[in-house]
This record gives sequence, C-alpha cells and structure tokens, in this order.
Amino acid sequence: MRMRKKKHGEERLSRCTHLLVEKPETPITDTEKDFGRVAPLHLEIGCGKGNFACGMAEMYPDVCFYAMERVRDVMVLAAEKAEERRESRPADNLRFIVGDAGNLDEWFAEGSVDTIYLNFSDPWPKKGYAKRRLTHRRFLALYAKLLREDGVVRFKTDNRPLFDFTLLELSDLGITPDFVTFDLHNSPYNERNVMTEYEQNFSSQGVPINCLQFRFPKNFLKEDS
Ligand code: SAH
Repeated sequence: MRMRKKKHGEERLSRCTHLLVEKPETPITDTEKDFGRVAPLHLEIGCGKGNFACGMAEMYPDVCFYAMERVRDVMVLAAEKAEERRESRPADNLRFIVGDAGNLDEWFAEGSVDTIYLNFSDPWPKKGYAKRRLTHRRFLALYAKLLREDGVVRFKTDNRPLFDFTLLELSDLGITPDFVTFDLHNSPYNERNVMTEYEQNFSSQGVPINCLQFRFPKNFLKEDS
C-alpha cells in the first residue's frame, strides 16, 4: 500500500516538475536562475497544500516565491494546486522545494531572501521538542543569516502557546516585532491577507489567528557569535 501511494505521488509530481526546484550545487543567491529575472525573493516554510503560496504569487506578480515543504506527498498537492491555478497567475513566479528548514542554508545563500513566511508551523508542545519549533532561536539564527538587511519574518498561527513561546524567544534575543496581533482577522494587518488551509479551517471554527512580523537588528549575528 505504502509503495503504491508513493509511486502514485511520484507520478503526479512528475507532471509538475517545472514547478519544482532541485537542490542546487551552490546555494541560490537570487531569482535569476529559477525565474529568469531578478526580483524580491520570498520564501514560505512549511507550505502544506499550497493555498497561501498560490494566493500570494497571484497577488504579487513582481515578487518571486519559493514554497518549501518537507513532506513530499503534501508537496504534490501544493504543486498540483499551483498547476491548476496557473492561469490565475499574471507572472511565472512560484516554485516549490521539497526540503527541511534545518537545511535552508544549503538552499539559500546568505543575504538572499527578502521575506520569510511561517504559517501554522507545527507547535511541538512538549518541552523536550522545543528545538524543533520553527521559531526556536536555532532556526531564527538561520533566518537571520539568509535574510537581506531589513528582511522580515512574518508568522501566523492559531496556537497561542507557540505564539507566546515565539514572543519570548524574540524578547530574549532583543528583537522588537514590527507588529503583534492576537486577532489578525479583526486587525489592520489583515489587509491583503491570504489565508492558508489551516487558517481557513481554524477561523471557520471561530479560533482567532495570531500574527507577528519582525526583522533582525543590524548587529544581530555579530552579537550572537
Ligand atoms: N502552512 C500550511 C500547513 C501548516 S502544517 C497551512 O497553514 O495550511 C505545517 C506544515 O509544515 C506541514 O505540512 C509540515 O510538513 C511542514 N513542516 C514542518 N516542519 C518543517 C520543516 N522543518 N521544514 C519544512 N517543512 C516543515
């Protein structure tokens, strides 16, 4: 059963290979190679079924988006969605990466990324697994390296404990968020908000969505090392 499912997945994925980026020999420095033009580079980590990535790519044709997902079978669904919605995109500006956030620096060069999106990241509620949270300081250090000066990280989640953990990590690192809201959909930051699959699900159940954005201070990495 498992083999059959996987084989099917590979077959489906093979129809979307033009949307997939293979791991480069040297990390990506800009969007030229994959998109044929230099544009702001935005990266979503843990894109799931791809609704956010597709919606953002449609809304911002001048930006090039990479959407990373570590589960290949989930990535297939995202790539298929992007293929179905191809006509809705004014520009060819969306690619997918099957990969793990822990290896981001093998994919992207230092100072190459303008914006990172973390949407409904796995909460890893047990304390012993805190290091796996995508807003743990070990990941934040990685994002700080990849982001251009003044690049931003935008994070949204239904999960209040993960959100509070994130606020503490930022505060411990001396980072003041650009904004914080505990109810995105009833806040001024909801303008042009593209909902993810999880977000649609949770908000239809009346769960408020937490959202924050931050950037790293100029001397962040120097102070850190
Ligand atoms: N962003 C989507 C999915 C949220 S679920 C939405 O909001 O609807 C979290 C997703 O992140 C899962 O698909 C999971 O496989 C992926 N993920 C978790 N840890 C990851 C990591 N380290 N690297 C890449 N993707 C990861």
